[in-house]
Amino acid sequence: MNTFYVTTPIYYANSLPHLGHLYTTIIADVLKRYKKQRGFETYFLTGTDEHGINIQRAAERNNRAPKEHVDYVAGELEKMFGEFGLDAANGGYDIFMRTSSGFHYEGVQELWRRAAKAKTPKGNDAIYKGFYSGWFCAACASFKTEDEYIKPEKENDLPRCLVHETPLDRIEEESYFFRLSDYDEALLSLYESRPGFIRPEARRNEVISFVKSGLQDLSVSRLKTSVSWGIPVPDDETHTMYVWFDALSNYITAIGFGNSEKTGFEKWWPALHLVGKDILRHHAIYWPAFLLAADVELPAGVFSHGLLVDSQGRKMSKTIGNTIELPILRKYFTNDMLRYFVLREVVFGQDGKIGYETVIDRSNSDLASGLGNLSSRTLTMIQKYRDGVIPSGDIAEENFIHAKRANVESDSQGLVSALELARNQFLSSFDELAFSRGLENAWSIIARVDKMISDAKPWELIKDENQKETLNAVLYRSCETLRWLCVLLYPAMPEATQKIYSQLGLSGDISVIDPAALKWGDLKEGTKLGEIQAVFPRLDKKKIMSEIEEGINKSAEVEEEKEEEKTFVSVDDFIKVELRVGEVLTAERLPKSDKLLIFTIDLGEAKPRQILAGLAEYYSPEDMVGKKVVVVSNLAPRKLRGYESQGMICAASIEGGKPVIATFTEDVPNGARLK
Ligand SMILES: [Zn+2]
Repeated sequence: MNTFYVTTPIYYANSLPHLGHLYTTIIADVLKRYKKQRGFETYFLTGTDEHGINIQRAAERNNRAPKEHVDYVAGELEKMFGEFGLDAANGGYDIFMRTSSGFHYEGVQELWRRAAKAKTPKGNDAIYKGFYSGWFCAACASFKTEDEYIKPEKENDLPRCLVHETPLDRIEEESYFFRLSDYDEALLSLYESRPGFIRPEARRNEVISFVKSGLQDLSVSRLKTSVSWGIPVPDDETHTMYVWFDALSNYITAIGFGNSEKTGFEKWWPALHLVGKDILRHHAIYWPAFLLAADVELPAGVFSHGLLVDSQGRKMSKTIGNTIELPILRKYFTNDMLRYFVLREVVFGQDGKIGYETVIDRSNSDLASGLGNLSSRTLTMIQKYRDGVIPSGDIAEENFIHAKRANVESDSQGLVSALELARNQFLSSFDELAFSRGLENAWSIIARVDKMISDAKPWELIKDENQKETLNAVLYRSCETLRWLCVLLYPAMPEATQKIYSQLGLSGDISVIDPAALKWGDLKEGTKLGEIQAVFPRLDKKKIMSEIEEGINKSAEVEEEKEEEKTFVSVDDFIKVELRVGEVLTAERLPKSDKLLIFTIDLGEAKPRQILAGLAEYYSPEDMVGKKVVVVSNLAPRKLRGYESQGMICAASIEGGKPVIATFTEDVPNGARLK
């Protein structure tokens, strides 16, 4: 049996789940399901890249051991993938690979040993020891060349990472190097002899010109004293491997390369790697070079996809507040709606725009009004006109004349040819990872059958006994087309298609039906429909969008409150904090806010202060007036939702419960200081 092995990048365990993780993993999931239907035995890898200085630092910041930190992040990712139906339990990935696993250590060390023994195509040692000095971005886990950082404006400032805008570290230390510079010709001849190795074409050209411009040797280790959280270099305990040598190797250690815990290397390798364009170089240049050195077969290919940007084409960022939040996607859309959107709306390989509104629009137009409507109108008519039993699609010759009168073709040949053509185009599109085009092909058939039904007007045919067979034929053709569409669209929308399939009264598992083998007429007359339910509900755009907007405003308030908390958490600075007694003179709800109250508070100063606090859910304004409260009086004034807040009211903050205002059991003068 043919095998197909697909990988997502293993995600760096320094950030919690976000849309980027979801996007690549959905695509890999679609491919896996598609290939499985086409008769391949499949293996699908995703996971986390868990080593390096950045993880070490993130763990330190959170007072955790590095292992604890990566366990946490990996757990969150797995949970998210499960919720979106991408985990093993839902027929998604086969392994969640983690580079902190023991078998991976073993495997990477074996790969290193082989490379360390090897000569380059130009006859030099593939790995050698030297000194590296350069600007290093911890967040990217890579050294930065001059065109990859922001040059400092002032003389003593540090350059900053172009991606992260954080200051770079100057790193100067003993390091092992991989002699990448000797692999330029070998790599160029690889790209030449296997034109599909890097896709899409534009990205392939970028890589080729990069290699032609000359490759520099690659630092592949750090001194253990500067980076301890990593895999030891074999036979030199003073060094840990530089993350890319470690991370890239996961694709083979996961299937047993260099270790005995896992198996399947001969069976599954080579893999198709799906990667974001930001890590294409690592996969298309470094990785094949490492494998060439270690004399391991090269990957099947590297497909680079684009970024998801917001509906105006801007990069998503927390600062702009234009990110797409996974909990919101979960709340309002089915997994299939989301899968359909990213496959149909984004040309795979290019950047694509996504916004909640466009997801709603796509879902309503193509799913609710398209596939969903075709399915529910067809099934409902069969229920109503034919007692829920699928009729024969044949029209006897003597009834051709009636069919013609009703604008219905006397045989199904025209439809069948169009359907077969669309199916074949769909398959060749999916073979090329041109998902959007493939779905367009499928939707051309939906449009055709919709038109067939509207032209035939079944609600009139039912009134005419002579049109019995004509109506039967329309219903049968529509059902049989739906059966094909379920099989064809299964990889894109596994849940919905299986549901429609059962509603057609069919019991098979469509995940193993090869769409190429579909034959018109295999749907048997007399099949009794299953229970009919709508698969794609129409989404109320106005309602959903206003709920989402409201939610975003609320979470912005929570962010603001979090900042307040930070101000009085620090113990060292406590002594600098001026706490004074204040009396609430007035209290009101802030317009358009569920959380904030706006107060005037007398601190014994010339003028009372205006202070905002997130207490509206717990205290009514009337209850607050006249209360003596504790106010942080030397807090720098800040604006909350456009209002200046000149201080902060202290309250006990209880996890999951209401905050409780700090007050006094005896009378105290306004403005008295607390010490
Ligand atoms: Zn960076």
